[in-house]
Amino acid sequence: YQISATPYQEQNGKVQKWFGLCADIDTHIAALQQKEEFISIASHELKTPVTSLKASLQILDKMLSVSCDKKVTALLNTAIKSADKVSFLINDLLNASQYNAAQLQLRKSWFSVSLLTEDCKIVAKHAGCELVIQDRSSLSIYADSLRIEQVLVNLVNNAIKYAPDSGVILLEVEEVRGYAVISLTDKGPGISAAKVSQVFQRYYQVDSKGGQYTGLGLGLYICSEIIKKHGGEIGVRSVEGEGSTFWFSLPMGQPRYI
Ligand code: ADP
Repeated sequence: YQISATPYQEQNGKVQKWFGLCADIDTHIAALQQKEEFISIASHELKTPVTSLKASLQILDKMLSVSCDKKVTALLNTAIKSADKVSFLINDLLNASQYNAAQLQLRKSWFSVSLLTEDCKIVAKHAGCELVIQDRSSLSIYADSLRIEQVLVNLVNNAIKYAPDSGVILLEVEEVRGYAVISLTDKGPGISAAKVSQVFQRYYQVDSKGGQYTGLGLGLYICSEIIKKHGGEIGVRSVEGEGSTFWFSLPMGQPRYI
């Protein structure tokens, strides 16, 4: 139950009566849990057919690439890209329902941050963007490397998606008072001051109409859950029309240099 009370005061300030409200929110919570469960099951069910759809399209693409005309190959490429996108969205939904249920288990180990940043360079290159890494720290951290890679790739993908054709993306790594701080700066459109504090909220999108890039508004929420679970912080500095710097910090535990 959610209980609240409001005083009704006379002109001299003396409390004359109290108004009480007692709301049964159990049904509301149960409905929310049901919704989460449905999203989790539905995304699990969708994952397998989409994966096989993509694999079939890729095989078809290989079989036809020698003999077929360019129009067919172009159509197949579009179909593969769409399958990829659906698969990304399903992963986001799956992740979000897992994180909400606090089922995220971290598998921590010591690893070099530079291994992840080099992977990001490949991701950016694949998308035709230039990513410059500034890292003089050679840090090694104790964290879940797959989850941290997921965060970094998500931020890099956002920079590619929301700040295309805006020059290089800068990835910086430094140590600040026992924390590894990783930041990603783009020279894209930026985010207005009014909206910047909300981008880590679940399902939040700056342009709610979807704009050119449709997503689910879950990527940054998932990033923030992963970083919080590690005991770190995540944030963004942004100036509209100039660009954004997304950053996160991770406790390094016993600092080790490699
Ligand atoms: P999605 O990309 O699915 O919309 P995210 O949680 O990744 O969800 O991002 C939330 C919103 O933050 C996006 O809709 C976008 O408007 C904004 N955003 C994220 N990254 C950037 C960026 N690098 N530059 C400008 N806006 C961004």
